[in-house]
Amino acid sequence: MKRTIRDLKNIKGKRILLRCDFNVPLDNYGDILDDTRIVAELPTIAYLNQKGAKLIVCSHLGRPKGFDKYLSLFPVAVYLMKHFPNKVKFCSKVVGPEVDNAVEKLNDGEILVLENLRFNEGEELNSPAFVSKLAKLADIYVDDAFGVTHRKHASNYGVALKLPSAIGFLIEKELLTFQQAFEQPKHPFVAIFGGAKVADKLSLINNVMDKADTIIIGGGMAYTFLQAMGQNIGDSIVALDKIEEAKNVLKNAKEKGIKILLPIDHVALIKDKDKVIKTTGLEKGMVGLDIGRKSAKLFVDEILKAQQIIWNGPVGKYEDKRFKNGTIKIAKAVAKSGAYSIVGGGDSVSAVNASGVADQINHLSTGGGASLKLMEGKILPAIEVIDTL
Ligand code: AMP
Repeated sequence: MKRTIRDLKNIKGKRILLRCDFNVPLDNYGDILDDTRIVAELPTIAYLNQKGAKLIVCSHLGRPKGFDKYLSLFPVAVYLMKHFPNKVKFCSKVVGPEVDNAVEKLNDGEILVLENLRFNEGEELNSPAFVSKLAKLADIYVDDAFGVTHRKHASNYGVALKLPSAIGFLIEKELLTFQQAFEQPKHPFVAIFGGAKVADKLSLINNVMDKADTIIIGGGMAYTFLQAMGQNIGDSIVALDKIEEAKNVLKNAKEKGIKILLPIDHVALIKDKDKVIKTTGLEKGMVGLDIGRKSAKLFVDEILKAQQIIWNGPVGKYEDKRFKNGTIKIAKAVAKSGAYSIVGGGDSVSAVNASGVADQINHLSTGGGASLKLMEGKILPAIEVIDTL
């Protein structure tokens, strides 16, 4: 069991370095276009603030190479100022004398927001010098940046090795949700996988193999499975080096009595004519880019019977409106099913948002890569180094 902020005692007046994930989209005027990630961090900030800690809040934003005025965390600090009136200060540096000075002047119950961690190249390199400068700012380290827990960066992995540490409420919720879903699944448990990167998704499938009742496979990855079954997939995306693994998955599932559902029809592009067709068979020159109507019905019928669902990856190239229907139907069915539902991975989360059903999903995981790793049953390095109870 990882130590959580609830386990931290007597923190009034203690300097706490809190790593958040404020990687929010901004426009060129510094307006925050989607505050979901900030809202998700508010309970942890509020809790530590109410306990009277001196909070030093840090985060990355985007992928700057050095200072970039369009990726400043100042707009986030302003947002927090509205939530915590007269308590929030901003320092326009990441580390150094100005930061040391600002921390020195912090009163109990005040919040200091530091500038974007990635303005310092030591952050992603996990450089020892940068780690030391961050660590010396605080007595305790709290990680609540779930979205980067699969990375070994200075502000998570590096600092956690230097200071007494704990996880915040957001990470705690992500861990508990996945743990419960995999250790005590409700049945029927339907796992839905899509997307294009077969290598990643094979580990997902293997991780649910002993737990799920039905595995639905759509999206680009489905074509590797269909080819493994000897079907003609035309010019659809395929991972030839994964055909044998796909065959093994199909064989294992059969032996274990797990139902695997694959597309039975397709929305395809005829490449040289740039024409979209609906078809049950794919031939040379045709690229399958979405599940067809019959497949959608097959998948939806199964989803509606579920008591628990996990979903990662779109079942079509949904960014292109000609191929988004299948994914939207899946999102709506997951919402309608009434099953306990977990959706992870950036694309499936945005499909849920685009379908307007986000409020009917039990858990929308906040971290793309990190939630994929959790679904794969892998250990997240930045969480592994947090103190245990
Ligand atoms: P992943 O990162 O593996 O979850 O893949 C997500 C990407 O898969 C999205 O950008 C989709 O456009 C893409 N995708 C989904 N279905 C297909 C398909 N049938 N062919 C090619 N790409 C697809």
